[in-house]
Amino acid sequence: MSSAEIAIALDGVTRDYGQRGSVVSAVGPVSLSVPAGEFLVLVGASGCGKSTLLRLIAGFEQPTLGTVEITGRAPRPGESAGVVFQQPRLFPWRTVGGNVELALRYAGVPKADRPHLRDELLDRVGLAGVSDRWIWEISGGQQQRVAIARALAGDSSTLLLDEPFAALDALTRERLQEDLRQVSHETGRTIVFVTHSAEEAVFLGSRIVVLTDRPGTTALDLSIDLPRSGVDADDLRTSAEFTRLRAEVAHAVKSAATARHTSRKAAS
Ligand code: ADP
Ligand code: MG
Repeated sequence: MSSAEIAIALDGVTRDYGQRGSVVSAVGPVSLSVPAGEFLVLVGASGCGKSTLLRLIAGFEQPTLGTVEITGRAPRPGESAGVVFQQPRLFPWRTVGGNVELALRYAGVPKADRPHLRDELLDRVGLAGVSDRWIWEISGGQQQRVAIARALAGDSSTLLLDEPFAALDALTRERLQEDLRQVSHETGRTIVFVTHSAEEAVFLGSRIVVLTDRPGTTALDLSIDLPRSGVDADDLRTSAEFTRLRAEVAHAVKSAATARHTSRKAAS
């Protein structure tokens, strides 16, 4: 595969925290190539280094060792990728539309083009018609939709999401998963999505990487070939193949600590 088709490249990435004597190794070493348009889900137990890895890809912090590249360059924070966190982190003194317009302004979109693009983005995340509402007037699920619209406002082709649906109720979570899957299909953006849920991973991902316990490194790298369009979400979730994959991923997450020791031995 040519380098032009690689959206994200991690090469021997590690991240340690702390000073000499009390160093915590949070991540790595991790090497990963993410082709453009892939929906990669990183799964692992709490504390295994998922958020750290995502911050490294976003360029919010630097690896201790190794390199991170987005489309062949070191990531520029806030520019190379749109980022969505577990909490929506919106501006409560702005309306729904105002939050999206601000993101368009930061992305360098001329003022005259912003209202039209704002409406297009809100439509894409299922929020047509709520542009004038205040942030505190809409539900948590809707707020997270605004956060996704805001992340899509930049012209970067990469979207990074860190457990964005973890705080939502089960039904809302499923709806947002379905819509994000659709966004991925329609926009062709490269997505890296972090979760600790095997179910969520299998539903969303075209590829799943299971991380070991801290310092997180690859325990399993799995391609998911479930249909990406033209299939009912509930049928998909109850299909035999879905159930089989979910069990495989859940098992891999549970045994990931052992897998790390095995892979370390194999590496040394
Ligand atoms: P996850 O998102 O998978 O729950 P994190 O990436 O948040 O895991 O954390 C991985 C490990 O790194 C944890 O042990 C955490 O305590 C540690 N860690 C994360 N960020 C810092 C930091 N800024 N300083 C010190 N330790 C950190
Ligand atoms: Mg985390």
